[in-house]
Amino acid sequence: MSKTYKNFIGGKRVPAQSGKTYENRSPADTSDIVGIFPYSDASDVKLAVEAAKKAYETWRKVPAPKRGEIMRKAAELMVARKEAIAKIMTREMGKVLKETRGDVQEGIDTAFYAFGESRRLHGQTVPSELPNKTCMVFHQPVGVWGIISPWNFPMAIPTWKIFPALTTGNTVVFKPATDTPATAGEFVEILAEAGVPDGVVNIVYGPGKAVGEAIINDPDIRGVSFTGSSLVGKHIAEVCGKTLKRCSLELGGKNAQIVMEDADLGLALEGVLWGAFGTTGQRCTATSRLILHESIHDEFVARLADRARALKVGDGLDEANEMGPCVSEAQRKSIHNYVEIGIKEGAKLVCGGQALTDAAHKKGWFYAPTIFSDVLPDMMIAKEEIFGPVLSVLKCKDINEAVRILNNTVYGLSSAVYTRDINRAFRAIDDIEAGITYINAPTIGAECHLPFGGVKETGNGHREGGWTAFDIFSELKTVYIDYSGGLQKAQIDTWD
Ligand code: NAP
Ligand code: MG
Repeated sequence: MSKTYKNFIGGKRVPAQSGKTYENRSPADTSDIVGIFPYSDASDVKLAVEAAKKAYETWRKVPAPKRGEIMRKAAELMVARKEAIAKIMTREMGKVLKETRGDVQEGIDTAFYAFGESRRLHGQTVPSELPNKTCMVFHQPVGVWGIISPWNFPMAIPTWKIFPALTTGNTVVFKPATDTPATAGEFVEILAEAGVPDGVVNIVYGPGKAVGEAIINDPDIRGVSFTGSSLVGKHIAEVCGKTLKRCSLELGGKNAQIVMEDADLGLALEGVLWGAFGTTGQRCTATSRLILHESIHDEFVARLADRARALKVGDGLDEANEMGPCVSEAQRKSIHNYVEIGIKEGAKLVCGGQALTDAAHKKGWFYAPTIFSDVLPDMMIAKEEIFGPVLSVLKCKDINEAVRILNNTVYGLSSAVYTRDINRAFRAIDDIEAGITYINAPTIGAECHLPFGGVKETGNGHREGGWTAFDIFSELKTVYIDYSGGLQKAQIDTWD
């Protein structure tokens, strides 16, 4: 029996007003129905925004450490349910259990971090230019936020947004990705159990075109926090721009790993395998390009292809498997379309390049780990995000050329450089256009207490994770207190 989930609005579990529902099926076994979910529309969003607006009036006045205490309780509940949530997540989006456990752990870490931050949220005190006057700056909440998340990190990404939003005194209307509603539902249940008051967190399930659009267009939504594709992100920025709504965007990537001839090649090989094929390549930070020094190229590609061919692909619930399916049939089609483009562009298909449809894989959306060599910097497969288990290998003559190739994309999220030469490493850190650079480690593996985000079309300048996430969800209030008893005029009453 599959579980039936409901929207959570103003503390009540309610179906979509239209009564419509949709099924969420496992991408590893499409006969497995993970859950039945409300197929909501703008009318449900309206109720959720009203509930969040009402709850904001009291929630914003709750002392931040008290709000933080709820985050701590949520963290403890997540610890207790880690395994159960990981299993649901593997069923609904396919990545292997080891990775879905990591995804939940990131949520737990983020909750404990928010608990700690709730006792900081430091402002500043600043000397005045006038006597008997003091100045300070502190954080205030923004209001009601729309939270729109993708399917690839069904727990981590919503927690990155919702914990800092709540800790700083905002209320939220949350629309999870259509492909991963169950993990989101479990998360919101935990928040309710942890003591988040009615209306502070509301979840509305349903498609981006209806529920997402209603959220971003609602005049009572004061900020939108979105993670997803650059295409949808640009549209959201346009809509928010019309009313100058704050919006924070975490978008696509076309991340590269550079390997120089002096690197520890064994380590670099493990790094790229994990970076390219972890989460079936469906990470915003996935290694989608490998830039190899020409002197090590042929041997490295041969070793890598051997390892990629040997990867065990299958249902993520089976711990023997190393790579799960693509999230959906549409995603698998889009990946294969890029593979066909790569072949047409003249790149050399080294391994993979097709859907897995044999008896062991026919129930799901599996795709073979794929490597292209002889990729040139201006080919589409070198520049566009594929979001699947497809790696494009390019050659370079030196580190400067490697960085030029790495920067030859509209994205700028993550990057990696393998070298033992510290001078080269630091020059690459200076010149790489990306929000994140790893030295001797793969492009994936963000830690929750550090700023996360990218440059160029990867975002609009905000950083989630770490202390910077709390800035996204805060307004600054500047306060001047004059205790002179007289009228003092800044810039006019001077010392001379
Ligand atoms: P997506 O298609 O852009 O969808 C993301 C979310 O936006 C989903 O909840 C989607 O709803 C919703 N949405 C779609 N159209 C909308 C609209 N017109 N208005 C409002 N909301 C709308 O992205 P995805 O396929 O789920 O995720 C993959 C993308 O996310 C990749 O590009 C990846 O690089 C990026 N990503 C970035 C980061 C980062 O931090 N930089 C992290 C993870 C993923 P539906 O599910 O109903 O379509
Ligand atoms: Mg699904």
